[in-house]
Order: sequence, then C-alpha cells, then structure tokens
Amino acid sequence: MKIKEAEFVISAVKGEQYPEDNFPEVALVGRSNVGKSSLINKLCNRRHLARTSSTPGKTQTLNFYRINQAAYIVDLPGYGYASVSKTQRASWGSMMEHYLRKRPQLRGVIQLIDIRHPPSKDDIAMREWLNHFKIGAAVIATKADKINRGQYAKQVKQIRQDLGVPKEIPIIVFSAETGHGKEDVLDLLDYFWNG
Ligand code: GDP
Repeated sequence: MKIKEAEFVISAVKGEQYPEDNFPEVALVGRSNVGKSSLINKLCNRRHLARTSSTPGKTQTLNFYRINQAAYIVDLPGYGYASVSKTQRASWGSMMEHYLRKRPQLRGVIQLIDIRHPPSKDDIAMREWLNHFKIGAAVIATKADKINRGQYAKQVKQIRQDLGVPKEIPIIVFSAETGHGKEDVLDLLDYFWNG
C-alpha cells in the first residue's frame, strides 16, 4: 500500500469531536516518547505532520490523521509519564477506554515498544488491559537504528515473552530514522483497514 495523501484532521478530547466520515481506523498506543509521531511522519513522508517532541506527556488528546481520504491513523495519548496528576491520569484512562471499547470504526490497535529496553511496567499494564478487553494488538518495536541488527531477534523475543504476544500476532521492527520496516507497517495498516 502507498500513502499518497495524509492530512491532520482533529485533536479530539471527547467523543463528539471524532470524525464522522465512517472510515476504518487503526489506533497507535505507547508510552510517551516511544516514537508514535515519528512513525506517522515517516509513513506519510512528511516531516511535521505529527508533532514530535522531546518533552513527553504533553498531548492528552486523540489525534486523527486521514490517509488517502479513505482511512485513519489515530494517535492515542502516550502513557507512563510520571509527572501527570491523578486527575489527568483518570481522564486519560476514561478517554482511552471510551475510544478503544466503543468506537465501531476501530479495526486494529498497534502497541509501540522501544526496541532497546524490555517492556516497562506501563507497557505490560497496557497489554494486560488490551488483553482484558480482547483487543489483540500488533506490536511495533521502535528506534531500531539505535541498536545493532544482530540484536533485533533477541530484543523481539524478549518483548514477545514479557508482553505475552501470541506467535500469530506480528512484532515489526521499525526505525523512523532509516525507514527500516516501513513496508511491513504499511502492509499491516492495509490489512487492518481493508481486511
Ligand atoms: P511520541 O511521544 O511517541 O510521539 O514520540 P516522538 O515521535 O515525538 O519521538 C520522541 C523522540 O524520539 C524524538 O526525539 C524522536 O526524534 C526520537 N525518535 C522517534 N523515533 C525514532 C527512531 O526510529 N530512531 C531514532 N534514532 N529516534 C527516534
């Protein structure tokens, strides 16, 4: 699949703001700073479509990107940012839960994990939450350019084990820096959107 056109549509804080054109959606979840914005920019060949940042945890909105006027990538607010208040965390939780459980257009979820480290407590908690609601999320291991290729298999195995990802669910190794894995991610999106 090729992304020919990508546009930012809305930063939504509540359900009424979600797009109503009824296109299939794929949601990205992951710890703040894991590389969600960078992934979106790389897939769409755009430098500043999604805002990347070195100060994580600022965006507590759902960001909708319309692709080829036919589908959406939805960037969900990053988790695991220590200095957010309890109230913020609760509102994060209810927003995520509402979207992930109640959105009929949602066709697939992808959890992003930093390939350099074993999944964090928050990554594991997120996975358990997804499992609880029977959402079998695919996984992208990000920032692959930061380790040697020789280490990929070992890191992926560790992620699979720690998160308990069944073998029929793919873990794609990706780098927003080099584009490694980009075609596989595009194929996965195509599969979720179009079956
Ligand atoms: P988000 O909070 O998940 O949207 O993360 P960002 O996309 O804003 O990325 C956080 C930081 O990690 C930024 O400084 C990015 O430049 C960097 N980053 C993201 N992906 C990669 C990658 O694949 N390789 C490298 N080297 N850095 C990355």
